[in-house]
Amino acid sequence: MNNGKLCVSVCAETAAELTQQIERAEDLADVIEIRFDCLNENELDSALQKISRLNSKKSLLATFRPKSKWAEFFFGKVIDKEVLEKKNSAFRERINLWNKVLSLRKIDFLDFEDDLFIGFMMSDIFENDILQKREIIFSYHNFEGVPNNLRQTYEDFSSAEEFNVKCDIIKIATQTDDVTDTIEIWKLLKQAEQENKNLIPIAMGEAGKWTRILGLAHGAFMTYAALDAGKETASGQITAQDLIETYRVKELDERTEIYGILGNPVSHSLSPYIHNAAFKFHNLNAVFVPFEVKNLDEFITKFIRHETREVELNFKGFSVTIPHKQAIIKHLDFVDETAEKIGAVNTVKIARGKLYGYNTDAEGFIEPLKNTCGELKNLKVAVLGSGGAARACIYALQQAEAKVTIFARDIEKAKVLADEFQASFSDLKSEISDFKFFDIVINATPLGTIGGLENQTPVTADQIKTAHLAYDLVYNPFETRFLREAKSAGVPTVGGLAMLISQAMAQFKIWTELDAPMKEMSRAALGKLQP
Ligand code: NAP
Repeated sequence: MNNGKLCVSVCAETAAELTQQIERAEDLADVIEIRFDCLNENELDSALQKISRLNSKKSLLATFRPKSKWAEFFFGKVIDKEVLEKKNSAFRERINLWNKVLSLRKIDFLDFEDDLFIGFMMSDIFENDILQKREIIFSYHNFEGVPNNLRQTYEDFSSAEEFNVKCDIIKIATQTDDVTDTIEIWKLLKQAEQENKNLIPIAMGEAGKWTRILGLAHGAFMTYAALDAGKETASGQITAQDLIETYRVKELDERTEIYGILGNPVSHSLSPYIHNAAFKFHNLNAVFVPFEVKNLDEFITKFIRHETREVELNFKGFSVTIPHKQAIIKHLDFVDETAEKIGAVNTVKIARGKLYGYNTDAEGFIEPLKNTCGELKNLKVAVLGSGGAARACIYALQQAEAKVTIFARDIEKAKVLADEFQASFSDLKSEISDFKFFDIVINATPLGTIGGLENQTPVTADQIKTAHLAYDLVYNPFETRFLREAKSAGVPTVGGLAMLISQAMAQFKIWTELDAPMKEMSRAALGKLQP
């Protein structure tokens, strides 16, 4: 457990919609942030009236993010009064708006953008006792990236008292593009913890999601959440439901064991849902977090290796996905035999500072196949594709003594792979390939995946009508075009979800030495899949 707050941000153009959102946020939030800047101009008075009538039991936070700032953030330095005067009307407009909002007694927190700090330094712009009754957040946002002088911004806010400005909480939010961009902001959190300051550190963007999940456990004052998926008020924001149910953010603490998926992209991954469901089932103090990693070498150096790391997190293991499954190998202290033969690692366990690599794709792939077909010895199997997943399939099929033929659009790649595994190979040209001599046809290409490839299939019903089984590794959507083709030809099918769960169960066992709860893991994944 930690003491951090979960703040649900609501943003609507009309007063009616806004109050509906506040009511819906009530069950999820400790604090509800009302983004007054989202409202149409003529809706403000009506919104204030409606909010004053609400029977909210949660703390309310008022925020107004201006489209442009009234002045650059430069307090602590010489203030150019001429600049201030020229922009005075914009400043007045903001103050008028705030005065209206401040008339609402229900508001507990106020979020002032950094430029207002200058106004506060120059004069008493609001009545003092109005501010005394509220918690004041001063916030700095940078939507371009992490500036070199981020620490100075924190120091400036920290010295608010010297300028006679009330600042109870500091919020610093910067855009990040790679997981290593988040380090500076995390270091500020550690500094704030030591200095006993309230900080809300936010690394925006996909790469910063982990800071939103782990922040509260490491002393962040608050983390922000979206009310609905697709309605995020900042990039990388996670829904309140996911933060509470999937990541259990308020239950985490500094001792929580951290697992995660390393890849790029990782936003589509179901692994956080699957593994967190298993941690929850076993009531473990552990969490599984997405890490969007572009530069793997830097991630290992700055986050993992004891001697060089800049961030202290209690990492215990990883899932590794595209494009790092091969590149991770050089960072490992030990690689198990299966992973070495496949040439790819999808699972890393960290124990006593050492990194151990495994591949559970092969086991995850073959389990559902054996459950459906039983003995695979001497069955003729066509594997479509010659990428990382195909390698795991070929390895596992050969271990089971099946006879494998690799079909790839790039015949050279097919040949190289076939030579390595001593398998047969052929050209995957949908109009000419014929699978009538095969018992099992496996799609190990991304064709059929949700998005641009969804309506595609590597083979048609006519081409596989004589097969005994069609197995698609693609798991989203649940029923792919390839599976529909097979079904329409009367061929039994296995979808990719079975492998996804099976390989995740093997990972869970490696990490925790506990039995993985299949039902809970499958249910968590199914809830997020397209039908
Ligand atoms: P990968 O390493 O990128 O390999 C993809 C393979 O598909 C390559 O051989 C590629 O050919 C081929 N390919 C791509 N587009 C194609 C097209 N339009 N026509 C024909 N072939 C095409 O990816 P991977 O890791 O092997 O993954 C492949 C699929 O399996 C993905 O959809 C992934 O989500 C799925 N998968 C599922 C699970 C599971 O648990 N269910 C596990 C792992 C992977 P080129 O080399 O010529 O580009």
